[in-house]
Amino acid sequence: MVPDENAPTKSAPGGACVFCDIVQGKAAASRVYADDLVVAFMDMQPVNRGHLLVVPIAHAAHLAELDARIAAEAPLIPVAELGRVERTILRSALYEVLYSAATPSGDTMRDAVSLARIYAGDAARRLVNGVLGSVSRSGGGAHSSD
Ligand SMILES: [Zn+2]
Repeated sequence: MVPDENAPTKSAPGGACVFCDIVQGKAAASRVYADDLVVAFMDMQPVNRGHLLVVPIAHAAHLAELDARIAAEAPLIPVAELGRVERTILRSALYEVLYSAATPSGDTMRDAVSLARIYAGDAARRLVNGVLGSVSRSGGGAHSSD
């Protein structure tokens, strides 16, 4: 079997991921939950009271590439200036489209566009639809949309 370089791994190469360090108990964190898939812990810089993070146990590679791809597809709006909701939706959907074979791209796009419309409005819906549609048309997905 050929290893899939895009598949999530147990930890980042060279131990460069703070979340992997927390998952493995190498970095301090106030854990509130853990199971076979995720670890939940209190955020060190909480946005509000009770702010906690739920992270997957498996390290996800390529996260740094997502913002560059979003910027390439939507160059008029700097990624840092996107609303938090649409930025989060774009990052998670783009990750699925580009690197996950578990969910068909069409399903990911429909869900992302729907979430953007519901939680961030019609402008966000058009942005998410445009970015994901462009990536999909360019063959950027790991799998087809069937
Ligand atoms: Zn990691």
